[in-house]
Amino acid sequence: MLVSFEHCQERDHLDPLAGCRDAFDLPPNQIYLDGNSLGPMTHRARAQVQQRLQEWQADLIAGWSHRQWIDYPQRLGAKLAPLLGAKPHEVQVVDSTSLNLFKLACAAVLSARAREPARARYRIVTEQGNFPTVPYMLEGLGRLATDIQVDVVSRETLCAAMTDETALLVLTHAHYVSGEVFDLKEMTSKAHAQGIQILWESHSTGVLPLNLTQANVDFAVGCGYKYLNGGPGAPAFLYVREDLQAASSSVLSGWLGHREPFAFEDAYAPGEGLDRFRCGTPPVLAYAALEGALEIFEGLNIDDLRKKSLALSELLIKLLEPALQKRALTLVSPRDGALRGGHVSFAHPDAQRIMAALAQDGVVGDYRPPHFLRFGLSPLYLRYVDIWAAAEKITRQVDAVAA
Ligand SMILES: *Cc1c(COP(=O)(O)O)cnc(C)c1O
Repeated sequence: MLVSFEHCQERDHLDPLAGCRDAFDLPPNQIYLDGNSLGPMTHRARAQVQQRLQEWQADLIAGWSHRQWIDYPQRLGAKLAPLLGAKPHEVQVVDSTSLNLFKLACAAVLSARAREPARARYRIVTEQGNFPTVPYMLEGLGRLATDIQVDVVSRETLCAAMTDETALLVLTHAHYVSGEVFDLKEMTSKAHAQGIQILWESHSTGVLPLNLTQANVDFAVGCGYKYLNGGPGAPAFLYVREDLQAASSSVLSGWLGHREPFAFEDAYAPGEGLDRFRCGTPPVLAYAALEGALEIFEGLNIDDLRKKSLALSELLIKLLEPALQKRALTLVSPRDGALRGGHVSFAHPDAQRIMAALAQDGVVGDYRPPHFLRFGLSPLYLRYVDIWAAAEKITRQVDAVAA
């Protein structure tokens, strides 16, 4: 039995998160299923940017101290920490995900060497076929540090690739196409059992719980502009477990990561805790948008967000069941919700044409080569009726290419 529109209306009526949608300034007549690539604007993000613009005009250079612009990385890190299941001083918001990945991978390798100088841990292991910034950045690291070997292996051979020579395992929590999630806690303890440190990359922050402290994760990085709705190119975050911070050093040792940046000393000395991972001057307007966007998460529980996100993806899969039975469209994401992240992907030989037609029809998702349709399902602004309407349009476009 197919789910009716009325049933979806009823679920919206009972949804404890329904009110969150009002915080967003969504374009009319569009069902936006692409918040996993770029989250939409909130009213608070706009207000915070406007506020910073006024401060810039009125305060000029004094804004750095009077308005605490300089403290943005720590301040937003502390706000983000509960969503990551981390402590406030274990997170900073700074730079991009790719840069943070590089900084933390270097820190992990350097600290592994300092800890076990006699033992040659020279390998970094990561997964093949996942989001490519991980292997790209690690291979760059390998070009610089020629005694480091980067091994990019399939998911099936990951465990076999973890050896006594491995210093670091770098994994992406939810696969960027399939949305399949690793068991973060299990992989972390597997790595630790072999003396290997782990660095997790998460683009599903804000929709998927990470529980970094509970899982005893060493390092993590992730995006601010996806489910966190921080705006195009919003600053990213980095996490380093508190007991590892003192022994972690940043190879991108910029002046603002110095213990006393405004002393302008000749000699470098690393800043306190995670401050050392700052490189240069924070982009205040970009932080302002993220600051506004994060306000919506105050008082919300990541487990409740996860619950609704899963309910939305279950619903989409269920509503597309008749289309799936015709076989041209196939489900790429795991059917088991426990294994599925915040988005759902399907494969279709005409995926690119279908996604373009859907955009014309008011449903925005992502096409990913060679033939994937990817739909991000944010629990903050999507209604069950939106999923119902989107499923109807997807079914219509899939039928249209077959005709
Ligand atoms: C979006 C995404 C990135 C993006 O990295 P940037 O440095 O912000 O461009 C990296 N990794 C994954 C898995 C992503 O989904």
